[in-house]
Amino acid sequence: MSELAYPYEAPASQALFDRAAAVTPGGVNSPVRAFRAVGGTPRFMVSGTGPYLTDADGREYVDLVCSWGPMILGHAHPEVIAAVQEAVARGTSFGTPAEGEVALAEAMVERVAPLEEVRLVSSGTEATMSAIRLARGFTRRTKVIKFAGCYHGHVDSLLAAAGSGVATFALPDTPGVTGAQASDTIVLPYNDLEAVHAAFAAHPGEIACVITEASPGNMGVVPPLPGFNQGLKDACAANGALFVSDEVMTGFRTSRAGWYGVEGVVPDLMTFGKVMGGGFPAAAFGGRADVMAHLAPAGPVYQAGTLSGNPVATAAGLAQLRLLDDAAYETVDAVSARIQSLVTEALAKEGVAHSVQTASNMFSVFFTDRPVRNYEDAKAQESFRFTAFFHSLLSNGVYLPPSSFESWFVSTAHDERAVQRIADALPAAARAAAEATA
Ligand SMILES: *Cc1c(COP(=O)(O)O)cnc(C)c1O
Repeated sequence: MSELAYPYEAPASQALFDRAAAVTPGGVNSPVRAFRAVGGTPRFMVSGTGPYLTDADGREYVDLVCSWGPMILGHAHPEVIAAVQEAVARGTSFGTPAEGEVALAEAMVERVAPLEEVRLVSSGTEATMSAIRLARGFTRRTKVIKFAGCYHGHVDSLLAAAGSGVATFALPDTPGVTGAQASDTIVLPYNDLEAVHAAFAAHPGEIACVITEASPGNMGVVPPLPGFNQGLKDACAANGALFVSDEVMTGFRTSRAGWYGVEGVVPDLMTFGKVMGGGFPAAAFGGRADVMAHLAPAGPVYQAGTLSGNPVATAAGLAQLRLLDDAAYETVDAVSARIQSLVTEALAKEGVAHSVQTASNMFSVFFTDRPVRNYEDAKAQESFRFTAFFHSLLSNGVYLPPSSFESWFVSTAHDERAVQRIADALPAAARAAAEATA
């Protein structure tokens, strides 16, 4: 990389990154934060307000990551902060049931019709791991179908051909996952129902569930083709397997009822995280009451958590869900559409081959002119153009996900001033993308 690739130094962030690298593998607590795909110094943020983040060097950015989705009302929303302060003052963890977790579960069940019962956990990874265990316990089968490029957290059996950081770093597979765990996972190309039917035919009576991102956002945004999710549901029903829809990213973001609210396909089990935690570690899995009844202490499938339903996290999540009315989603959808068209306009003007793909207000830019329907298509893009595009935007105060395999996220706080800053930064970024070489 030439020096020109990183037009701004970030000395305070670099000093923190050096300190971090001495005590933490790779200097980060989640791999994609390390900027390895794009190079340069990861920015250490010190504060966030509305659509903006401020780094350790005092530079402000329009945030298009929004903590990878959760901050759908922007950073430090006053009503969410007030709910958190009120909860903190009453104590931070009881190890007993408390009303807040009931209220959050009720709010979720009320919004998402197929969610008859819900169990709270602390991360999306825990949610999918527990949903898979429950599906196996319920069906007394072992095998799981997942799709290449879909990311379901770092669950051992679900890391095969996963999206997000696994895609960003092109990891072939992960040491530490046993052959048995990997061999119980059947990985199929996304948006390919024929492959699903063939897998069910090849493994009669063995498949516990099909798990899919409701609308994938971890290989970039690759929405399901019309009929794909319904086809999965039907194939599961015909073969005695459960259909598990992972809405950790899409839940309460793509609509009031998540992707279910957009498409209306009824899963057997669903998983949630991100938006429902309001910026705190809260996640959940749930669905059919007769399936959830197999979970301890009601049933034999064990699952537990010291901090599950934490009172501060549930207060934040509940405050956020209550603020997410129809007007809020209209705002997020509208600002997303504006930014999408600004990006398209800038890239088209410079003749850069690109495809902006959307799933309601989630979107991402692929540097290819072909539609991206699965992980193979996503990998065929010219990622080197993204690197140049990313650094140009970063140097002009716009913070994108540091990988071309991630969705961009906006919030209700992305106002005219924030959009204008993006608009001002895009022409140079599009030029950088046009001039980039592999
Ligand atoms: C983020 C994500 C997860 C994992 O959630 P964590 O809270 O990071 O463990 C699982 N599934 C999907 C679809 C996600 O986007």
